Amino acid sequence: MCGIVAYVGNKNAIPILLKGLERLEYRGYDSAGIAILNGDNNIHIFKKQGKVNDLRKHIPENVPASSIGIGHTRWATHGEPSDKNAHPHFSESKDMAIIHNGIIENYDHLKEALTKKGHTFKSDTDTEVLIHLIEEIQKQDNLELGTAIQEALKQVIGAYAIVIIEKNNPDRLIAARKSSPLVIGVGDGEFFLASDATPIVEY
Ligand code: GLU
Repeated sequence: MCGIVAYVGNKNAIPILLKGLERLEYRGYDSAGIAILNGDNNIHIFKKQGKVNDLRKHIPENVPASSIGIGHTRWATHGEPSDKNAHPHFSESKDMAIIHNGIIENYDHLKEALTKKGHTFKSDTDTEVLIHLIEEIQKQDNLELGTAIQEALKQVIGAYAIVIIEKNNPDRLIAARKSSPLVIGVGDGEFFLASDATPIVEY
């Protein structure tokens, strides 16, 4: 079982995510990654096969602070443990990024349909298919992202806890879950999401 940590609020998300991922290390994992939005209107993803400490070393020290971010430790089910298969994953346009705990059982069927529509995939994961599907539905039907996620999840067979960030909405995390755990922490002007309470108790 892998781990999820996400933060939005008035603190710098990066240390909160990294510390939170370390607290979830006991669950077992093969790779780790974070996505942040630090003011240049782009989502930045850092991810690495190996330990959270390897990820720490991979993130440049001069990365600007970010008030929002998502973090993940992966236990591979679809695609070997590798940098490219580590989460987070971008959508086709790179306007949004996802972390996912669980399995999308019908991902191959969905991937085939999206490939025919011109989508290209950078990883071998089931998770990347889901974020491409969400974006496809959002653009096709001109939907608000939350609604597009709900529509996409109606097509999905499997188990999931997901968290999504979008570059045009720097104050918002969107999460959903089915048969995978996800805890929400509500602070004073800040929110946390995690696979269990260990990353957020101190706040
Ligand atoms: N099925 C996804 C993958 O293989 C998520 C695995 C997990 O829960 O860490 O990337």
